[in-house]
Amino acid sequence: MIQAKGYAVQGPESKFEPFSFERRELGASDVLIEIQYCGICHSDIHQARNEWQNSIYPMVPGHEIVGRVAQTGAEVSKFKEGDIAGVGCFVDSCRACENCSEGFEQFCLIHCAQTYNSTEMDRKTPTYGGYSSQIVVDANYALKISDTENLAGIAPLLCAGITTYSPLKRFNVQKGQKVGVVGLGGLGHMGVKLAVSMGAEVTVFSTSPSKEQDARKLGAHNFVVTREPENMKPLTGKFDFILDTVSANHDLNVYLNLLKLNGAMVIVGVPDKPAEVHAFALIGNNRTLAGSGIGGIAETQEMLDYCAANNIMSDVEVIPIQQIEEAYERTIKSDVRYRFVIDMQSL
Ligand code: NAP
Ligand code: ZN
Ligand code: ZN
Repeated sequence: MIQAKGYAVQGPESKFEPFSFERRELGASDVLIEIQYCGICHSDIHQARNEWQNSIYPMVPGHEIVGRVAQTGAEVSKFKEGDIAGVGCFVDSCRACENCSEGFEQFCLIHCAQTYNSTEMDRKTPTYGGYSSQIVVDANYALKISDTENLAGIAPLLCAGITTYSPLKRFNVQKGQKVGVVGLGGLGHMGVKLAVSMGAEVTVFSTSPSKEQDARKLGAHNFVVTREPENMKPLTGKFDFILDTVSANHDLNVYLNLLKLNGAMVIVGVPDKPAEVHAFALIGNNRTLAGSGIGGIAETQEMLDYCAANNIMSDVEVIPIQQIEEAYERTIKSDVRYRFVIDMQSL
């Protein structure tokens, strides 16, 4: 076994504390990654605090992982020692079911081994995430990182990047379309950068007036403060596509009404309570309301390569691991510009 250290919570109300645990010995198809940076996703907060009522403790969160390949198993050809690799939201799946075969391993019909708060394929061995020193992962579930210079800014692509890239591609967002991004946090700011890179005219819907200047720097063309309902009325029926990244409960009908004929809104944020949708908000203009969950391995690699080619990365605030609690509190207050990333050298 490989001795690893990290930071864990022991229960929904406990604080993060140093935690020692074991990673498995390297198998023939595994790589050992020395973690350099790990992003803090709002899903880490939801799960550390059991907001989705499915938490397993002790929990070492973290699924926006980048690091250096320190060792490779005998059968691994995808990586060599010294390469930079990424790990996202899952570390294994059955590889044979219909969804896995189509590249949607995140929806494996047998079991998707999530990076943390989950179990390996044996459904017994707990998985521990990236707020830690190393990870051992099957090379097929690790991503190749070509830009080795900006690793802190690349880490958030492994969740925030793919979660916003995938629905933009699936709904074929293109040049000249009007796209709304609701919530300017970790996911939202990546959604803005990606939609802008695809040529869309992007409007940010935000509760934080102080983010307007940043939104424009990220490439957004318009900025709407959503706490003032009169700002929304003139936008009724104007949007081709809206990406909703909000982590807290809010009224979806307001945004559905902004969609034009055949427009679509995709939910990626996961508030803890169900939302109410009025049928007329969907019936009018033949609107679509859809969801989207991260992305499979092939699409995640495509997104990483797209971001490298287009010089897209996350705007980050790098912190030492001892500041997780503070980073969580600031993220909850929407005071993150725009992703906290842990520098694992501080461990
Ligand atoms: P984040 O950085 O905290 O951003 C969320 C943003 O939502 C905030 O910055 C804020 O933006 C807005 N917001 C927060 N509270 C609000 C409220 N009460 N009313 C309206 N807007 C509010 O979180 P994140 O890491 O981007 O994650 C966002 C959500 O996506 C989380 O629920 C997370 O679990 C989920 N997620 C889903 C997937 C998936 O696969 N579907 C993947 C990753 C994360 P403004 O200040 O601009 O209003
Ligand atoms: Zn995430
Ligand atoms: Zn499967």
